[in-house]
Amino acid sequence: MKEVSFADFKLNRQLLNAVVAIGYEQPTEIQRKCIPVILSGQQVIGIAQTGTGKTAAYLLPILMNVKFAAGNEPRALILAPTKELVIQIAEHARLLAMNTDLRILALYGGIGPKGQIEALQQGVDIVVATPGRFMELYLKGELPTKQVKTLVLDEADRMMDMGFMPQLRKIFEVIPHKRQNLLFSATFPEKVERLAAEFLEFPVRIEVSPPATPAAQVKQVLYLVPNLKSKINFLEYLLQQPEFSRVLIFTRTKENADNVFKFIERKKLGPVRVIHSNKGQNSRINAVNEFKAGALRVLVSTDVTSRGIDVTQVSHVINFDVPIVYEDYVHRIGRTGRAFQTGTAITLANEAELYHVRKIELLIREQIPVNELPPQVAVTETPKEEKQAIAREIDRQKKKEDPLYKGAFHEKKD
Ligand code: AMP
Repeated sequence: MKEVSFADFKLNRQLLNAVVAIGYEQPTEIQRKCIPVILSGQQVIGIAQTGTGKTAAYLLPILMNVKFAAGNEPRALILAPTKELVIQIAEHARLLAMNTDLRILALYGGIGPKGQIEALQQGVDIVVATPGRFMELYLKGELPTKQVKTLVLDEADRMMDMGFMPQLRKIFEVIPHKRQNLLFSATFPEKVERLAAEFLEFPVRIEVSPPATPAAQVKQVLYLVPNLKSKINFLEYLLQQPEFSRVLIFTRTKENADNVFKFIERKKLGPVRVIHSNKGQNSRINAVNEFKAGALRVLVSTDVTSRGIDVTQVSHVINFDVPIVYEDYVHRIGRTGRAFQTGTAITLANEAELYHVRKIELLIREQIPVNELPPQVAVTETPKEEKQAIAREIDRQKKKEDPLYKGAFHEKKD
């Protein structure tokens, strides 16, 4: 089979030069499949995870169609669920558009709208926005929509999870009906299917890896670690290894995120920063940018912030605890092993969390290999309170699976 190159697509010189300058040597699978179809004007449902190159798969044809700055009103609109993702998509678009005069604007909440309104008034070609901020600016009369010819919904599954459907419906009403619609989603659950049926006409469905399959380049490992203190000890051990050069650590709660952060800082295993929903907008953006720029070794994050983080060459993802929203596992580990690179995803689970690991394995349709803890790691006795919490949690899980289950007390008597 002949290898496909970017030059095979009907892209202009400006874009081809940008692709070379960025260092993309060949198109990824989703790009090979999507770019010609989108360029031909068809509507597309793209099922692809982060890490597959799906952003450029829709950005390149859009940049090709929009070509150069013209008029003042946006001609393409890209909607994404979180501000981090919006910022990342806009950056990606600016990079690909480096040889053009296109004006690309990111619109998101959490900061005052004034600067965004000023930028809109100066004229834009492509808008990347969260649904909430888009509607807010539209209702203020600051966002002209009549020229929008292409609409992208990125990470549609997450948008549905976050309850954006009513806002999306309103947005569909205020932009021209005759337009090209593109929908991208990491997974394709029923609610996304319904959204697609509502908003796309005769779409071409393009799928690159089965829904909820972790990117193939990610090596996954599971460690059974009985308690919090031992998890911390193990984390310290891991971070003493030099190959852990760029590490993303995910925790389920803000408290754990803060504690892990403080520990790493105290042990001087950073530079490290932490992001979660209690951190201010600027602090979050700065932390991600520092991490991207290589100024941080470790970034600690909760799932709320995990979706939009786009950093290449993450050497390791560490799941300090197991996510209970199972698809978050796929999203978390998708941060390593991005296009054409390999990475390792390490998950730490106590006895109660194993229940969720099994569910995740069902979702990803594979077993996560289990490794023994290295002998250097001190495994401590589980404190009474934590032991009880774990036992209670296991009890709750058993009851959930089997309503007739009577609890550990009865089990003991038997
Ligand atoms: P995405 O799936 O769009 O989030 O992209 C994942 C990462 O892959 C991003 O950091 C992109 O810059 C990178 N990428 C996208 N397309 C290519 C390509 N053709 N070759 C190499 N890297 C790519």
